[in-house]
Amino acid sequence: MMPPVARTVDELRAATRAWRARGERVALVPTMGALHEGHLSLLRAGQAEAERTVVSIFVNPTQFSPAEDFSSYPRSFDEDLALLATARADLVYAPTAATIYPEGFVTTVSVGGPAKAGLEDAARPHFFDGVATVVAKLLTQTMPDIALFGEKDYQQLQVVKRMALDLDLPVRIVGAPTVREPDGLALSSRNVYLSSEQRVTAATLPAILREAVASLRSGMTASEVLPPARVTLHEAGFFVDYFELRDASSLAPRERAAAGLPARLLTAAKLGSTRLIDNWAV
Ligand code: AMP
Repeated sequence: MMPPVARTVDELRAATRAWRARGERVALVPTMGALHEGHLSLLRAGQAEAERTVVSIFVNPTQFSPAEDFSSYPRSFDEDLALLATARADLVYAPTAATIYPEGFVTTVSVGGPAKAGLEDAARPHFFDGVATVVAKLLTQTMPDIALFGEKDYQQLQVVKRMALDLDLPVRIVGAPTVREPDGLALSSRNVYLSSEQRVTAATLPAILREAVASLRSGMTASEVLPPARVTLHEAGFFVDYFELRDASSLAPRERAAAGLPARLLTAAKLGSTRLIDNWAV
């Protein structure tokens, strides 16, 4: 059976209010649709922790720059609904743009710290304020007990965690591991942009990331490992935006992996006009 679809905050809250009155916990999985196994893994993680799950589908215009792919971003609502029916989501929240950004909308969330780490934010200066604003709204609209985000978008996960802490949002933010294709490429709605040749090359990104992680784990420093890895990526056909070792939560630069100080290796690289991101725990 297809899950019910709420289009307005009133419809959404009518459902969540009834659940909460029965003592059922609610998990929210925010997405931009074009769903794949990565999104479904977040749904399953939510189902493990809460009696009820809401999957939101909203392609958020404010996190795209004018040069980015807002109008061409893949949209597949009917297929998404069918997937969510099979995966037994309890409710799909697909707000209209006017529900999220009503006439006269002027209030936004401005994020710092991990949002200003010089990673995604360097290429996309308005991205995280856009993400934080829409996520804050989805959280206050749904008022879930937990909300799930993929480690695939690692900087975003840290930004959302920091925002929830700073704004006392009464929700537990949970990160879930990246789901990958058999050759290691992280699943992404944007992978459909890759030509078949680029798709083959794309798998070298996670491969080089993992090799670099192994070198860092063996005690080599960032200055020893990262520059040659960037060159290898360049030679494979990538334009590298960043390939960086960072503190796992503040995202401040780190020179080496050390016991008790979790670090993360993060990268973004373009193949033609398609930008791929990935990261790995060190
Ligand atoms: P998006 O629809 O791309 O905005 O992603 C919605 C959520 O799904 C975000 O929390 C992403 O981090 C997460 N996500 C996207 N791709 C993956 C993946 N391959 N594995 C796990 N989570 C993912």
